[in-house]
Amino acid sequence: MKNFVLRKNAVLRIAEREISSLRPAQRESLIGDWWFMDEDDPEFRLVPEELRIRMRKCDPPDDCTPDTYNPLILIGLAASYRGVRNSYLETKLSEYEGEDIRVLGKPEELFGCPCCGYRSLEKRCEYFICRVCFWEDDCSETQDAYSSCNRMTLEEAENNFFRFGAVSEEAFGYVDKEGELKYMRDDLCNQDIVYKEAEVA
Ligand SMILES: [Zn+2]
Repeated sequence: MKNFVLRKNAVLRIAEREISSLRPAQRESLIGDWWFMDEDDPEFRLVPEELRIRMRKCDPPDDCTPDTYNPLILIGLAASYRGVRNSYLETKLSEYEGEDIRVLGKPEELFGCPCCGYRSLEKRCEYFICRVCFWEDDCSETQDAYSSCNRMTLEEAENNFFRFGAVSEEAFGYVDKEGELKYMRDDLCNQDIVYKEAEVA
């Protein structure tokens, strides 16, 4: 029997599993990323009042191990699944919980990377770095134009992605190794949704 789980709950359940296996440096990094979040940020209301006060008044902590910081870390872990395909969440959560889980809901919209084509960018032309191929999105669209921040042309980056799995051999160490499973491509982007509608019907 399949268990249907709403997308936001699936992400939360995955994050709750992952938090216990984080290394101190990973906790510190997530806390640092989210410590100065804007009070208008919808996630801010998920932070307990006591922690909110500390975030407004203090610098990030030196010791990130206390569980007090878990709400902030969970926000960061959940955010790392923005735009990730339902099929990826299903596999992950099914493995964690030992049940056949189906995830319902539309993934957040992300934008296609001009190099690898995977929809991994929060915004276009804002120098976000693609998690799948490590291309820095400086708005290059022309194949043979030199991109100074990437130190190569888009065509070279595409060839390297095909060859090394990243815009360069060195960059392969920084890409998300499961990125191609996580993110949709334009030619596949409706697959999850169509599948889900058929499943529910
Ligand atoms: Zn890319």
